[in-house]
Amino acid sequence: MVLNIYPPLVSEDLVFRSKTATLQSSVSVIVSSLSGLDRLTEENVTSAMTVAEEAGLSRILVTDGAGRILYDTRETGSAVGQYAFYTEVVQALLGRDAAACSYKNGAFRSRAASPVLYQNQIIGAVYAYEYDTEKAAMLAGFQNNLFNLSMVIGAVVLVFSVVLSTTLTRQIGELLEAIRKVREGAYSHRAVVRGRDEIAQLGEEFNSLTDRLQKTEEARRRFVSDASHELKTPLAAIRLLSDSILQTENIDPETTREFVADIGKEAERLSRITEDLLRLTRLDSDVLEAASAVEVLPVVQQVVRMMELIAEERNITITYQAEEGCFVRSTRDELYQIIYNLADNAVKYDRDGGHVEIRLKRDRSWAVLTVADDGVGIPQEDLSLIFQRFYRVDMARSRAAGGTGLGLAIVRDTVEKRGGSVRADNRPEGGAVFTVRWPLIREGGAE
Ligand code: ADP
Repeated sequence: MVLNIYPPLVSEDLVFRSKTATLQSSVSVIVSSLSGLDRLTEENVTSAMTVAEEAGLSRILVTDGAGRILYDTRETGSAVGQYAFYTEVVQALLGRDAAACSYKNGAFRSRAASPVLYQNQIIGAVYAYEYDTEKAAMLAGFQNNLFNLSMVIGAVVLVFSVVLSTTLTRQIGELLEAIRKVREGAYSHRAVVRGRDEIAQLGEEFNSLTDRLQKTEEARRRFVSDASHELKTPLAAIRLLSDSILQTENIDPETTREFVADIGKEAERLSRITEDLLRLTRLDSDVLEAASAVEVLPVVQQVVRMMELIAEERNITITYQAEEGCFVRSTRDELYQIIYNLADNAVKYDRDGGHVEIRLKRDRSWAVLTVADDGVGIPQEDLSLIFQRFYRVDMARSRAAGGTGLGLAIVRDTVEKRGGSVRADNRPEGGAVFTVRWPLIREGGAE
């Protein structure tokens, strides 16, 4: 639309200007050829005009001071003797130059008039009229070309936008469908990705988001089902033991005491599991307790003091070698939990009469803690799995030792939340060794 309105208007205006200018100058040439006359009459005008005849003009009129036509170039229907009432003539007789141009029905019509003066008196007017179809035809051709061009551009744009919008709509529709399916729970559904444009990137992002969602969802399901299974076992034992006490007639007090002691053990186990579950849930919730610079050595000493009593029962010795002044950003409770869980495992899975060794040293910007035992060790293929929740290498042994299968998961989550890492290895001389690394900080708290 812009192409069809603006350029024709501008070119029309340009033609108007050039036409009125040339017509005006033709008129002033005629006026100057009449300028020697003191009075205009048909005779002297006609004789002056034969010299100054202007080619290319459709009509020239010369009037006297009252507007009566003295000279007319039109051969048929000459208006000599009549009065000229054209606006431009009236303007000229009032002493002003006048010009106008219009474009209608495929022709330019331009008019111009100027007064003829003798000693500052208006003694007449010259009026010229031009009728031009040649330039008008050029303008029409130009407009026609523009129209054709804009039609072609319009058609191309239309085809292009229809193709583009259908492709876009289809791709977005597919993506929306995939989002809807995943929202309804089909976590294995993936969006089909074609090409490399932004929509394809969106599809890829959505797919990796869904991957994560699927993994999280699977982990959540597994955790819930493992947790309920773990809780069910001691509950079933408690139920069985209490039923036996109730249903056995004349049960002797010794057996009753034994059963009640077992019930107590199972209850203790339940509370250990729930405590560990709660701890893990807190770790999952991303709410961290405010940390400060804590020295590791006193915590190691505290754990060793605690563990010595338990270890002694199985003739296991615990020793430690620890550097002073290793500060890490954590809380004392967290450090205690980590070191206790590792030392507890080391004693649990060590052989009777074994030896557990805890070491703490600096390694450049890290505090490195190792807990080593000389027990059964961990099968190579399980080394990366034992940090998973409820994963045990030997279920029976873990149960018998009072394990929940959550200790190492708690260790890993707690350490990683504070920017550290933990790994398990087997020692060449037998037994397992766990290594924890934390970023070292200064006592005041700066890293
Ligand atoms: P649990 O409560 O069963 O000890 P953990 O999460 O603490 O659970 O440990 C997971 C499993 O890793 C254990 O069941 C055990 O099989 C194995 N494990 C952990 N520490 C040791 C170790 N020091 N020696 C051998 N096996 C170990």
